[in-house]
Amino acid sequence: MKAQNNDNLTTYMSTYKFYEQVNKNFDKAAKYTRFDKGLLNQIKVCNTVYHVTFPIEKDDGRIEVIEGWRVEHSHHKMPTKGGIRYSHKVDEDETMALAALMTYKCAIVDVPFGGAKGGIKISTRDYSDRELEKITRRYTFELIKKGFIGPAVDVPAPDYGTGAREMGWILDTYRQINNDINAEACVTGKPIQQGGIQGRKEATGRGVYFGIREACNVKEDMEKLGLSTGVEGKTFVVQGLGNVGFHASKYMTEAGAKLVGVAEIEGAIYDPNGIDLNKLMEYRQDTGSILGFGTSTDLNDSSDIFTVECDILIPAALESQITDENANDIKAKIIAEAANGPTTSHAHDVLKDRGALIIPDSYLNAGGVIVSYFEWLKDIQHVRYGRMNKRFDESSFMKIAREIESISGKKFTDEELKNLTHGAEEYDLVDSGLEETMINAYQQIREIRDEHDLDDLRTAAFISAINKIGIMYEQMGIFP
Ligand code: NAD
Repeated sequence: MKAQNNDNLTTYMSTYKFYEQVNKNFDKAAKYTRFDKGLLNQIKVCNTVYHVTFPIEKDDGRIEVIEGWRVEHSHHKMPTKGGIRYSHKVDEDETMALAALMTYKCAIVDVPFGGAKGGIKISTRDYSDRELEKITRRYTFELIKKGFIGPAVDVPAPDYGTGAREMGWILDTYRQINNDINAEACVTGKPIQQGGIQGRKEATGRGVYFGIREACNVKEDMEKLGLSTGVEGKTFVVQGLGNVGFHASKYMTEAGAKLVGVAEIEGAIYDPNGIDLNKLMEYRQDTGSILGFGTSTDLNDSSDIFTVECDILIPAALESQITDENANDIKAKIIAEAANGPTTSHAHDVLKDRGALIIPDSYLNAGGVIVSYFEWLKDIQHVRYGRMNKRFDESSFMKIAREIESISGKKFTDEELKNLTHGAEEYDLVDSGLEETMINAYQQIREIRDEHDLDDLRTAAFISAINKIGIMYEQMGIFP
């Protein structure tokens, strides 16, 4: 049985802010679709909202009450899917907004899940590892009790403040209580040894890079911005050097873009000559801060990162970072939304009026859920990608290579032969599936933007999602 069914739409709409921002974007796009108001409302509402409190015993013996949420936004496809966030800023509004974004994100990139999100209102630095494990396991137990987790029901993943370790604890707790042959598929983003998948950790950042690359390859769009095509040579800054921000920056720099600014909790740095990402990570590890790094200049405030000269701004920390207060100062021509909801809807309009290209979160950070989908498929199939075909492919490629050698008279070097006959391993397949999905989704969104003569990709992305979900509801009808 689900807890607390949410049917009071109007109350939720007027009370919550981030969720309201998401719904504003939805409403803007809905005008371009043919669905009636009732169906649009059904797509928009959060289907179930679970609020839980539970006690844990701290290392010093004190009892503390912990507060958490799990929101399943849409059951139009099952299971629902969405990360679990640990942050002192977590609340019901944020969790509902993030769950709704997950629904639209999955639809945009054709991942067959409904959207969900979970959150626990804690700052991880206030707890020991042992306490974090207790909190994670107890939260999982509460989700199990209320039917908010399971391979066919609702499948969490990492988000801000959580990672593979927490996902491993969730799986272990689920497995202790459920005799389920598909148990490993109850959560994604797990350690490889526990049914995780190669490439999940870097997936969101990798997808961010693929999305930016797609945008930068569109000649007309770059000409409008006064930029050349391609990622190579472009300057960028990143806010948040966590999982998503670090990996996005890594792939951007590998593709020849120049990292010129970084913001973290402790402050921000700027260096127009470029910042060496790996050296910066080591420096932060050693000193606990990015400030004072190499030849870079420390900015007065972390949020000053938004004002520096660059081509691309990558917000990769949290929501509502680009607001009325700083949107006018942003010089970047491309805003690549790696975080969820980093731009308020008013700030979006300010940036758009200035002619900036905003690559929206609902598309750009979908890499995580795309690869989570591959992980879930792997877990319910109980077989590693590449296991059945790698060796077979390699021997077929070898036969072809030998045939080419005998026809052409050319002898391949060992290195050439190794490259030509390489059979796909799990990472190769995951990366290829992620790239394919990000490219296709970008082209779909662009086509919708051009078809409706829109000047922004966010509305186009929402139209794409609403159309896909709306058609599904029409085909299956409303039960009973
Ligand atoms: P993370 O916890 O690994 O990293 C976030 C980083 O941002 C941390 O290093 C933190 O110190 C920094 N930060 C926080 N507030 C900041 C501020 N005001 N200024 C500068 N830095 C700040 O989290 P993550 O998994 O990288 O998630 C980042 C964003 O990406 C979130 O919005 C999350 O919802 C979104 N996202 C994550 C995934 C994923 O797979 N992890 C998938 C999709 C979307």
